[in-house]
Amino acid sequence: MQMYDLINKKRHGLSLSREEIYWIVENFTNGVIPDYQMSAFLMAVCFASMNEGETADLTMAMANSGDMLDLSSFGGFTVDKHSTGGVGDKTTLIIAPIVASYGVKVPKMSGRGLGHTGGTIDKLESIPGFKTALSFEEFSDVVKKCGLAVVGQTAHLAPADKKIYALRDITATVESIPLISSSIMSKKLATGADGIVLDIKVGSGAFMKNIDDARKLAESMTKTAHLAGRKCKAIITNMDKPLGRAIGNSLEVIEAIEVLKNKVRGDLYDICIELSANMLSLSGMANVEECRHLAKNAIENGTALEKLREMIKLQSGNEKVIDDYGLFKAPAHKYEVRADRSGYISSINCEECGICALMLGAGRAVKNADIDPSAGIILNKLLGDKVEAGEVIAVFYTSQNIDISEIEQKFLSSYSISDKVEKNFGIIIE
Ligand code: URA
Repeated sequence: MQMYDLINKKRHGLSLSREEIYWIVENFTNGVIPDYQMSAFLMAVCFASMNEGETADLTMAMANSGDMLDLSSFGGFTVDKHSTGGVGDKTTLIIAPIVASYGVKVPKMSGRGLGHTGGTIDKLESIPGFKTALSFEEFSDVVKKCGLAVVGQTAHLAPADKKIYALRDITATVESIPLISSSIMSKKLATGADGIVLDIKVGSGAFMKNIDDARKLAESMTKTAHLAGRKCKAIITNMDKPLGRAIGNSLEVIEAIEVLKNKVRGDLYDICIELSANMLSLSGMANVEECRHLAKNAIENGTALEKLREMIKLQSGNEKVIDDYGLFKAPAHKYEVRADRSGYISSINCEECGICALMLGAGRAVKNADIDPSAGIILNKLLGDKVEAGEVIAVFYTSQNIDISEIEQKFLSSYSISDKVEKNFGIIIE
C-alpha cells in the first residue's frame, strides 16, 4: 500500500477500506508515514469527508492504537460523559457525584484546558492536595470505594489520536466532522465505559457554530458508539453564553459545590440535571423523565455533595474546601468591570470571555504552561439581564501583576448591550 495512492483516493472523494484506514493509522503512529503526507491526507478528509463506515473504522483504529481499558471488574454499569468543550463548563464536577450517588459507576478520564476552553483536571487540581495522576489500580480502587473518580488521560490511551490531533492543530484540519468524531470517540471507547452521554455544544464558544453541524456530529458519534456495542445518547446544548457565572479553576469548583448545595438555579443546574438524567437512564434505571427527578433529589438530599466529598478525600484532596472556600488559594488582586452603557445584555462572545480568563492566568495559550488556580472571572450579568451604565457586570481575579486595561477592553467588547430584551435561548437545544 502506498500513502500517495490513499491521499489521492480520498482527494477524489472515494471511500477507503477498513484495511486502508488501519494501515494509515498504524503507520503514522509508528512513524513510517511522515507528517507531510498525513497532513495532506487530513486536508483531503476535510474537503471530501468520510462516510459512516470510514469514520467508525478510523475511530476503532485510533482506539486500538493504545490501551483498551477493561472496566468489568468495577462492578455494575459504568457511564462516561463527554462535552465537546466550552467556557465555564464545570458539569463533570456536578454530574459525576449525582450519578454515582445512585450506584452507577463513573470512572472519568478528563483533559486539561487549552486555549479558551477549560479542563476538568485543572479545575480539580485547584483543590489543595488533589491528585489526578493515579495508576489504573488506584483509579479502580477509588471507583470501587465511592463510585466515581476523575483522573487525567494517560499517554497510552489512543496515542494515534494524540499524534494526529497535534498535527491537525497546526495544519488547520481540526474542524472536520469525521475527524472530530473519531478523535473524541476513540478516547471514549478506549476508556471502556458501557454507556456514554455526549454534550454537543453549538454556538460562539463551540467547535460547531451551527445546529446542522452539531446534529451531524451528534449522529456520527452516536452511530460509532453503537457500532462499537456501547449505549450512547447525545444532547445538543447552547454555547452562545458561558455556562454559569464562574470561569476559572477554583472559582468553577466553588460554583459546582454551590450547585450540589442546592443553591444555584438556571442554565448550569438545568444542564446538569439533563446530563445526569441521561446517564442514569442509559444504565437502565428508569426513563429520562423519572431520572430527572432522581437527579434533582440527589442534590436536594445532599447525597451528591457527600459523593464529591468522598472522592476528593480518596484522591488525596482537602475535602474541607467544601465547607470553607477560604482553603482555596486566594487571588492577590480583584478588579470590578463596569458596564459602559445601560440596556440589556444581548450577546456574549464566549470565546472572547474564555480568552480574557486565560489572560488573567486561568488558562494556557501553549501546552504545559503554568496556570493560576485562583484566576478567573465571575459574571455578575448574564445574557438577557438588565444593566445600568456604571454597574459592575463582572469581577476579575488574578495573582499576576498585569495591566488589566487591555483585558477589560476585550471583555467589554465581548458583551453587547442593546435597548431591547433579545430572545434568550435556553441551555438545552435538543
Ligand atoms: N476534542 C478532541 O478530543 N478532538 C477533537 O477533534 C476536537 C475536540
